[in-house]
Amino acid sequence: MTQILPEVYLDYSDILIRPKMGINLNSRKDVNLSRLFKFKHGQTRTGLGIFNANMATVGNFDVAKKLLSRGMFATLHKHYSVDEIGKFLESCRTENIPLDNLFITIGLRNADNEINKLKELESKYNWVSPRNICIDAPNFYIGRALDVLAQVRNNFNDAVIMAGNIASSDICLKLLDYADIIKCGIGSGSACLTRKQTGCGVPMVSLILECADVAHSVNGHICADGGIVDIGDICKAFCLNSDFVMAGGIFAGTDEAAGDIVEKLFETSEIIDNKRVIQTKCFKQYYGMSSEYANNKFAGGMSNYKTSEGRELLIPYTGALDKVLQDIMGGVASCCTYIGASSVKHMSKCATIIQVHNQLNKVFEKYSV
Ligand code: 5GP
Repeated sequence: MTQILPEVYLDYSDILIRPKMGINLNSRKDVNLSRLFKFKHGQTRTGLGIFNANMATVGNFDVAKKLLSRGMFATLHKHYSVDEIGKFLESCRTENIPLDNLFITIGLRNADNEINKLKELESKYNWVSPRNICIDAPNFYIGRALDVLAQVRNNFNDAVIMAGNIASSDICLKLLDYADIIKCGIGSGSACLTRKQTGCGVPMVSLILECADVAHSVNGHICADGGIVDIGDICKAFCLNSDFVMAGGIFAGTDEAAGDIVEKLFETSEIIDNKRVIQTKCFKQYYGMSSEYANNKFAGGMSNYKTSEGRELLIPYTGALDKVLQDIMGGVASCCTYIGASSVKHMSKCATIIQVHNQLNKVFEKYSV
């Protein structure tokens, strides 16, 4: 018989972090944002556990470079060629941008080709340890996913491997036999249509709790992927014990994200000389990697057995990525001072999470300038 689990699964908007007296931190400057990660398969990396999504719009060189130079982690999307990635590696080396936290993404389809691509990167462009691989599939439950993961691990024994996406803890242990980081989240993304088209998905807060618990029991790590609306959600993910957070939408409106700025004209409610005032607003394109747009661009069209599980959006232009990254670092550090955590690593130990019906006061939101 089909069962309905009685527990209500929670999302970021259902919770808040309750400030409390902890160790006395005088300033946000005293918070250590960087953390040492000791991975299950033997490697270590250091940084603030934030990734850009491995999507064509934000998994690009310019976004990756900025995150890496801020001590964060970065992915590159899987549609770059070996030579394009190679040239990027070379430019980072000359500009002294650290590459220790850069993840190269591969897909599940044509695994042999994908592994050869990584080997070519190794032989042609000296992509040697430290090296990191992201194996990405919208649905890591499909049969061949585990085989591909095992194959990648057998070929790159010394790599840090992140694999996903999944949305239940039952699969975590199996994946951690080969992977170091499990990417968790199905249906939460801002450009995602999976929940609409398939009815499948799990709210992020409950998912993080469940997967972190299982993964940490065997020294695995998790990355909470998708659904970050506000920087506070990143703080919540860390407080819930997610080791990493991956985000797309919050980076997609920046100068560094791929795509041109699109200008649109808007009629405002203001009237001057009997005419409505027209305003120009700037936008950037952001699309899901399972959208029809992405299928047309990268896979020669939608297969006739598929439905589009992603949308194409024009989202407000937000300016320099540096400003967003600064806000993230400031927000996370400030959260630590509210809960008395001296470092990001300690956030989950210090946080008290409360369930709420109303997390934000939006009364003047439409008057924002
Ligand atoms: P965001 O930060 O924009 O909320 O979410 C980014 C995440 O959405 C990505 O890292 C990825 O996991 C997910 N995603 C990207 N493209 C698609 C898509 O076309 N369909 C679905 N279901 N998820 C997507």
